[in-house]
Amino acid sequence: MSEPIIVASHLSHNYQSGALRKAALIDINLEIARGSCAAIIGVTGSGKTTLVQHFNGLLLPSDGTIVVDGQQVRAGADLRRLRQRVGMLFQFSETQLFAPSVFADVAFGPRRLQMSRREIRTRVLQALETVGLPGPEYGHRSPFELSGGQRRRVALAGVLAMAPEILVMDEPTVGLDAAGRAEFYTYLRSMQKEQGMTIVLVSHDMAEVSMLADTLFVLHKGMLVMQGKPREVFMLGAQLHKWGLAAPPLNELLSLLRERGMAIPKDVATLEDV
Ligand code: ADP
Repeated sequence: MSEPIIVASHLSHNYQSGALRKAALIDINLEIARGSCAAIIGVTGSGKTTLVQHFNGLLLPSDGTIVVDGQQVRAGADLRRLRQRVGMLFQFSETQLFAPSVFADVAFGPRRLQMSRREIRTRVLQALETVGLPGPEYGHRSPFELSGGQRRRVALAGVLAMAPEILVMDEPTVGLDAAGRAEFYTYLRSMQKEQGMTIVLVSHDMAEVSMLADTLFVLHKGMLVMQGKPREVFMLGAQLHKWGLAAPPLNELLSLLRERGMAIPKDVATLEDV
């Protein structure tokens, strides 16, 4: 594995303390390789969002450590700098657009970075180009005239214009139609390939992660229960399924792959059919 860009060691997170304490993450150890696409999967409430919010310091560990690109995420750390390096695209990000034009919306972040107008313009145009909404055609338009999928790409451009090294996306394609999803995947792939960006994807969609991710991390009740290449995770999932132990995301994964006629490794299919 290439050098890790995110390293969590014995990371735990509790919401509240005392009698109300809710352990949302328990003793997580993981490494995400620079330039890879990692997917965090698991059912609702398994801790996915809590985990990724540690990657840019929106949450701080209750215990253990998290190091992002050499910088430890903890109270007193330079979280502003960290947030420039780690872009976050939240769920239904298109609802966060607010500026009167596409250009102004994408320029909002860079304008806070004390760059020249010329630099800002270059960054915005590049980001719009990357998401397939060229500035000359779309920059002056109101985001509200665009389709849902296009608006989400404007939100993505806003994150890209900050030139992050790591892009974290929470359920980026929920609510998009098939065409919107396919477009989104194309842009993700090109960003990863052309810009060497590290991508962290939180997803419920097993077909999506099997297509995009290099590594899967499976969370269950706040614990990291499995990790590996998608194929390895499917294999192990099938074995656990056979023993009646599979966590729900893996059952869902196998049936989705079948449903969509996607290749399931032969040995997995055999295990599952037992
Ligand atoms: P996921 O993203 O996998 O759906 P979350 O990280 O949102 O899971 O939640 C993990 C657990 O932490 C859940 O049991 C959830 O109810 C709890 N939780 C999340 N946010 C808060 C909060 N702000 N206060 C208390 N508990 C929370």
